[in-house]
Amino acid sequence: MTSRITHWIGGKSWDGPAASRTGEVFDPATGAVTGLVDFATQAEVDEAVAAARSAFADWRNVSLARRSSIMFAFRELLRSRAGDLAAIVTAEHGKVLSDAAGEVQRALENVEFACGIPALLKGGYSENASTKVDVYSIEQPVGVVGVISPFNFPAMVPLWFVPNAIACGNTVVLKPSEKDPSASLFIASLFAEAGLPDGVLNVVHGDKVAVDRVLSHPEVKAVSFVGSTPIARYVYETGTRHGKRVQALGGAKNHMVVLPDADLELAADAAVSAGFGSAGERCMAISVVVAVDPVGDALVDKIRSRMASLKVGDGRRAGCEMGPLVTAAHRDRVASYLDAGVSSGASLAVDGRAHPVDGAPGGFWLGPSLLDAVLPSMSAYTDEIFGPVLSVVRASSYSSAVALVNGNPYGNGTAIFTSDGGAARQFQNEIEVGMVGVNVPIPVPVASYSFGGWKDSLFGDTHAYGPHGIHFYTRTKVVTSRWPDPSHGGVSLGFPQNT
Ligand code: NAD
Repeated sequence: MTSRITHWIGGKSWDGPAASRTGEVFDPATGAVTGLVDFATQAEVDEAVAAARSAFADWRNVSLARRSSIMFAFRELLRSRAGDLAAIVTAEHGKVLSDAAGEVQRALENVEFACGIPALLKGGYSENASTKVDVYSIEQPVGVVGVISPFNFPAMVPLWFVPNAIACGNTVVLKPSEKDPSASLFIASLFAEAGLPDGVLNVVHGDKVAVDRVLSHPEVKAVSFVGSTPIARYVYETGTRHGKRVQALGGAKNHMVVLPDADLELAADAAVSAGFGSAGERCMAISVVVAVDPVGDALVDKIRSRMASLKVGDGRRAGCEMGPLVTAAHRDRVASYLDAGVSSGASLAVDGRAHPVDGAPGGFWLGPSLLDAVLPSMSAYTDEIFGPVLSVVRASSYSSAVALVNGNPYGNGTAIFTSDGGAARQFQNEIEVGMVGVNVPIPVPVASYSFGGWKDSLFGDTHAYGPHGIHFYTRTKVVTSRWPDPSHGGVSLGFPQNT
């Protein structure tokens, strides 16, 4: 049984004609096609933007108190339905249920941040900036915002952006990944139940056609994008060329540097957790362990022994720790790096293709793999694999480890494992990466900070969510005000000076 998955426009499921183009949505744990998702045409994107534009006229002036109370209501609904949303994520993405529940929990943090919108939108006020002249700033919404999200966090990434965007008074057209589109629809229906007016949040499904229309539509004023680096660069260049503000978060190659004085048990636990959680399909996954001499052999042994006991299987089954990959094509691409690594001289310390699986034979399975003695010239190092393949690069010193990380074109996340506070402090100072963990392998900032990488991991100058999110979704207006009094001094053609 396949279901039709269609757009959400103007507060309801779209009832337009059958789509001329659709995409298959899989249950990655069985390989079965469970849905066909409509791919929007330009005209359908225009319809969603028109709904958002029309809703903006009222929504921008809805009181902060009302916006905040809708966000609180949404937060309650999301909390009570968290299990349902996690199940939707697992069914289309494949990550295990506990991991999907964790994704929903991190999403909730961003909703809770947006509940505080009255405090977040306070401007400044200077009485008597000049004599009897007051100056104040107000933060206004930008208009219709486009949000384009990747497959790997189908609930959390839309909720990095949507709550702050609408709390600031904007309206949204969300284009989720076509691989797992249902979580966004569930979120939109919960927002409707929470009292969000029709048209404030719209969801259109599709591919490049839909994205390109969002990027060129004159009524879309800002675009938040998350995905791979080539598409992030394209979205940033195209969107800004059309006069929009754009934040485009791209791919990653996250290094975990292990110094000789590190607690190796802690480091091995962290490498396995951060390398194979969500089958490595996280932009903050650790994909490279940089073992500083002489810890390499001992660390590889500890990682290998932990990998053997990982339970791979259907994420709905009790005890499974790692699910399938999102599609068969992606699984095959990820697996191809194992042979490529070996033929270029790396050693395959653990071959995930031989790992036992607790799941249906048609699922998109690939167990956890470990490539040792990886060199920076190998494709296993240069490419973002985005799967359960952990590479180990040996480094002769702290300085060569830092040079390796800083020489990598990506700069999303990194971590250092050490018992030396001075080394950790030096690392956080000189590492050219946007998010740094000290004995923490996945340093995703809490919602009151902002999330973003450096270099090819982010195009634009604004990070996602937190204070940067509020900044991105607002325009500042500064008002200089004088109420006439008997002392006004007549005509003056000089440039205004403050006295
Ligand atoms: P992707 O780049 O293939 O797709 C992302 C979005 O762009 C989707 O909505 C997709 O429909 C759209 N898209 C795809 N091809 C397009 C094209 N040619 N033109 C216009 N739009 C297009 O990414 P993905 O495979 O869905 O997600 C995985 C990638 O996302 C990884 O590279 C991962 O590192 C990255 N990611 C980054 C972060 C971050 O915060 N930096 C977070 C999550 C994922």
